[in-house]
Amino acid sequence: SGVLKSDGLLEKDRRHLWHNMRPYRANDRPLVIVEAMGSWVTDHEGNRYLDGMSGLWCVNVGYGRKELADAAARQLQRMPYYPLTQSHLPAIELAEKLGEWLEGDYVVFFANSGSEANETAFKIARQYQQHIGKPLRSKFIARYRGYHGSSLGALAATGQAIRKQGYEPLAAGFLHVRPPDSYRRPEGMTAEAFQLLCAREIEERIIWEGEDTVAGVIMEPVITGGGIIVPDQLYVDEVRRICTEYGVLLIIDEVICGFGRSGRKFGHHNYGIAPDIVTMAKGLTSGYLPLASTAVKREIYEAFQRTGEYDHLRHVNTFGGNPAACALAMANLEVMEKEQLPQRAARLGEELLNGLKRELADHPYVGDIRGFGLLIGIELVEDRDSRKPAAAAIVQSVIDRCRAAGLIISKNGDTVAGMNNVLTTAPPLSSTDEDMAFLL
Ligand code: PLP
Repeated sequence: SGVLKSDGLLEKDRRHLWHNMRPYRANDRPLVIVEAMGSWVTDHEGNRYLDGMSGLWCVNVGYGRKELADAAARQLQRMPYYPLTQSHLPAIELAEKLGEWLEGDYVVFFANSGSEANETAFKIARQYQQHIGKPLRSKFIARYRGYHGSSLGALAATGQAIRKQGYEPLAAGFLHVRPPDSYRRPEGMTAEAFQLLCAREIEERIIWEGEDTVAGVIMEPVITGGGIIVPDQLYVDEVRRICTEYGVLLIIDEVICGFGRSGRKFGHHNYGIAPDIVTMAKGLTSGYLPLASTAVKREIYEAFQRTGEYDHLRHVNTFGGNPAACALAMANLEVMEKEQLPQRAARLGEELLNGLKRELADHPYVGDIRGFGLLIGIELVEDRDSRKPAAAAIVQSVIDRCRAAGLIISKNGDTVAGMNNVLTTAPPLSSTDEDMAFLL
């Protein structure tokens, strides 16, 4: 039902619409999605696909949730907009709810996208350091292969060269260290030693830069768009220790890992650490409307409660915390709670990981299979001894064949480093057991 005729739609698309991250090809055929329900999407020609990427890693509760649409519609009719220079009920209620979900004493600022949530975090971190008498602390340390967004600060924090080349100069003061990618550790080194080495590189960088010049460390719990790099407990504990010891704020980017994706409410809950700042977007509304958030520990918020004219956070955005988006996010969180979707993601993720290991363990092109909740990566190599990344054409051919069979998956990594060779899947947390069997 509701399926459109092709009649020139793709030609119109090519003529008028500029896509994200999509190289121009004269015969390009992007999916034009017209309907979606559960974990499935339908294109304009009536073809159905299992959405193994939850859109762009965000449709955590699946498509077609009437209660989310209703919550937004009710709020749009009652009071569609008011800025958060003042206040409104949906934002107050959602901020309180996010505090519960974070399981810590956090205060919440709203924005519209993950990039903006991270930009907000950087500004808060710098100003906080000034407020506590450390005005030189302006730098941030991030990891290669990490992704933090497309705006000039969030992109500066990103550790994937291809996304940055040609767009410089970006925001200054962002430094990178190696990711804890044990699959690509030096020969002869234990995974444990390598994980420690990676964490200690952050400490060394802080010392070399001058510890009084570093404001924060930003990291995803698990590097996602950079190819599903899952750190050991040891690494995360060590990063937390280093940040505390040197007075550097630990900013955890939960844009993908948050809201049940990891098998817990937030990715960092799997490691039992308390971040100083948490950034969120995507699964906050399951992608139904734009909304993002930056949560800070109460003591950071309180450092801004001085009385000088410029002591407050001098940061505003028109749409952040839109009432309908907040009401929808609340309904989204209630669905996740009612259906225990974080727990479901843990079970489905484990079953999928085990299934993939069973089916693909001996495949000559499969170097590594990694997972974190319902986030799975399969690293393709030319051969398993050299671990040389598989050629882009091979990786793409797997994606194309999946598409032809009715399944959307993706590839991630870092093109410049020649490592865009990790097949990724992150289906909705509400996927049925039949969906998961199909995906496998
Ligand atoms: N942080 C992470 C970990 C992301 O994956 C993304 C987007 O994919 C962002 C930040 C940026 O979010 P947005 O695209 O909403 O600006």
